[in-house]
Amino acid sequence: MKDILKYIESIREKIKNLIVGKTNMQIVLKYFNYKEFDSPDKKGSGKKYMDKDFLIRLDHARSIAGVPFKINSGYRTVKHNIDVGGVPESSHCKGNAVDISVNSSKDRLLILSALMETQFKRIGIGKNFIHCDSDSQKENAIWTYY
Ligand SMILES: [Zn+2]
Repeated sequence: MKDILKYIESIREKIKNLIVGKTNMQIVLKYFNYKEFDSPDKKGSGKKYMDKDFLIRLDHARSIAGVPFKINSGYRTVKHNIDVGGVPESSHCKGNAVDISVNSSKDRLLILSALMETQFKRIGIGKNFIHCDSDSQKENAIWTYY
């Protein structure tokens, strides 16, 4: 009996690690291609450096929102971050941030609502994009860029 419980616990741990992306197993995203998260100056960087837990949540948010999430910016190399005028210590360089294009007030509501429902607690609102990140080293907040 004890052995069975131990076995079940080990399986449970394996599944947990799979879900949070701590194994080499590829996380399959329903709505995104990893290329969408590449830093433009480094092919394959989205897949390599984006935080898997972040992407799973983003995929879930996209599902709830029911509208396309066009990624303006995902992972950024330090050089690319400087080129686009990103803040130093940008969460984009840590692989746990994206900027989602927004073209209407209706989509802004749908995207914001979905991000909040999926527990994103750091959101920046620009004129035609929404930034969201899961950077635990920064304070929870909603801010604007204008
Ligand atoms: Zn951003």
